[in-house]
Amino acid sequence: MRRIAFGLLLLLLITTLPSGKPVNRVPGKQVKTIVIDPGHGGLDPGCNGANEIWEKAVTLAVSLKLGKMIEDSLQDVQVVFTRKTDKFVELWERPNMANKIKADLFVSIHCNSNVNTSAAGSETYFMGLHKTQGNLDVAKRENSAIKFESNYKTNERYGGFDPNSPEGHIIFSLVQNAFLQQSLKFSTLVESHTHKISKIKSRGVKQAGFLVLWQTAMPSVLVEIGFLTNQSDRSFLKTEEGQRTIAKGIFRAVRQYKRELEKATPAKNQEEKSAQVRDSGDMRR
Ligand SMILES: [Zn+2]
Repeated sequence: MRRIAFGLLLLLLITTLPSGKPVNRVPGKQVKTIVIDPGHGGLDPGCNGANEIWEKAVTLAVSLKLGKMIEDSLQDVQVVFTRKTDKFVELWERPNMANKIKADLFVSIHCNSNVNTSAAGSETYFMGLHKTQGNLDVAKRENSAIKFESNYKTNERYGGFDPNSPEGHIIFSLVQNAFLQQSLKFSTLVESHTHKISKIKSRGVKQAGFLVLWQTAMPSVLVEIGFLTNQSDRSFLKTEEGQRTIAKGIFRAVRQYKRELEKATPAKNQEEKSAQVRDSGDMRR
């Protein structure tokens, strides 16, 4: 019964999701607005690395550096953060912010953790069904942040999702997202660029059902930048230099993704330019 109720609520949510169709532009055809989502924050510290550092601090530091690089180098791109300080933001609110402003890309930044302290490296996820138990475990751990929300059980935005039920994570990972190809493309670029310039090894591109990606109406990824439980990853990620290097890797992925996407749709860009000229009342065209 509970499963049926969850399914029905899920269906209701899917059909009421924002369509993501702005008047003048189509998400996924260009990169003009990026939402950067530093994982956790405030009363939700995320995972811990040997009592030396918390995930929420690392994700915020890397996110702010990434945002600055984008603002400095890609001047036609607007950057919006889901948080810029150590504050708590509910999971539903993060994609909701991106949907409201019709962002073109959503990047959620997290750190990994494992009881096996030799597990190391970065992995980038996009929405989909996990292929291994390990991938599901990562999603479960990240999704368990919902427990810091006092009203999550009655919050209809979660459609009755129960972080303790194994099928909950599976059911919503099956939701079809129109931006899977672009999310895969961007994930691949993140892994290749961060691996190229840092000593964090790449564990590859993966899929799992993350609550924070579930309702996004644009290409979206969740980057696990390294393991805070691994001594080598942790000592790199807690330094300013390490954080800047990871941010630079993700920045290069954004830059290449934007270039390739916009090169592939020149007709659309032309259309937009002429629309802008018309809007401004300029008759020189
Ligand atoms: Zn996390």
